[in-house]
Amino acid sequence: MKKYDVVVIGAGPGGMTAALYAARANLSVAMLDRGVYGGQMNNTDDIENYPGFTSIKGPELSEKMYQSAINSGVEFVYGDVQQITLDSEQVKHIKTDSDELIANAVIIATGATHRKLGVPGEDKFAGKGVSYCAVCDGAFFRNKDVAVVGGGDSAISEGLYLANVTKNVNVIHHRDKLRAQQVLQDRAFNNQKMDFTWNSNVKEIVGDDTYVTGVKVQRNGHDETIPTSGVFIYIGNVPNSKMFANLNITDEQGWILTNDEMETSVPGIFAIGDVRKKKLRQITTAVGDGGIAGQNAYEYLEQLG
Ligand code: NAP
Repeated sequence: MKKYDVVVIGAGPGGMTAALYAARANLSVAMLDRGVYGGQMNNTDDIENYPGFTSIKGPELSEKMYQSAINSGVEFVYGDVQQITLDSEQVKHIKTDSDELIANAVIIATGATHRKLGVPGEDKFAGKGVSYCAVCDGAFFRNKDVAVVGGGDSAISEGLYLANVTKNVNVIHHRDKLRAQQVLQDRAFNNQKMDFTWNSNVKEIVGDDTYVTGVKVQRNGHDETIPTSGVFIYIGNVPNSKMFANLNITDEQGWILTNDEMETSVPGIFAIGDVRKKKLRQITTAVGDGGIAGQNAYEYLEQLG
């Protein structure tokens, strides 16, 4: 079992920043992830609200953050975390699917995953017209009509991306106005390739033997089927925190509760980024959380002596 001062779980923007700060404080740091570093940034085309860049591709920003962390001495470790158990306050065991690590401080940065609609056809046609990632799958729908479900920042920014690569984008939203930032809304309303279907609840995703052919919605009490080749679902996220249930650090929805110092109720366990209960989930706020947690992990270890 390898021992570290700090183990950071999750290598999104928050995790990479926390790891960077902890390593620069001369701590031994492992940054764990079950996949490629970068988190949701990897599935984002253009990032236009990260200071210092007018526009930068998600994977490029991921690579830059990763290099900063690695150059500061952070060790990247692959692993799917199953549980954290406590030997004593100072000794935390982090069990992954293939290994076990020991740390004095842990920073949880496991982020959030797309929420499902939970309607018939969603699972049946997953990968056959149903997608949660425009950057990954948009190119399969070149010259085809697609639908986007949702009205937040993700639905509209990804809808704009899809408008560039597909024939037409129909945004299906259950209300009569969007929640997305005004700048995104303005762009979407001015985009000739984007239409809006308001006050419509998705009831089913329909298809033939293999692929999606339409979305059944209920509007003003009436059912109708909107023909489409693809359905991109962006209706918010759920926290990746089930594996920490034994620690009792979440609210009833699974968001991890912290104070302003990113401390959970367990001494030496911090939580940052999208998995944390907070209002604004952005790369910038994840990075801010990461800096605070990295520094506070250092101070926590100093006080332990
Ligand atoms: P979100 O902000 O929670 O928006 C989810 C959208 O889906 C809302 O319009 C919501 O409707 C709708 N919705 C929720 N449940 C639904 C259901 N069962 N059926 C139909 N519609 C449903 O989620 P998000 O857009 O994925 O964004 C997540 C976080 O990432 C946010 O904090 C966002 O600001 C951030 N983000 C930022 C950027 C950026 O800055 N460019 C880009 C992407 C994401 P209501 O409006 O009625 O609730």
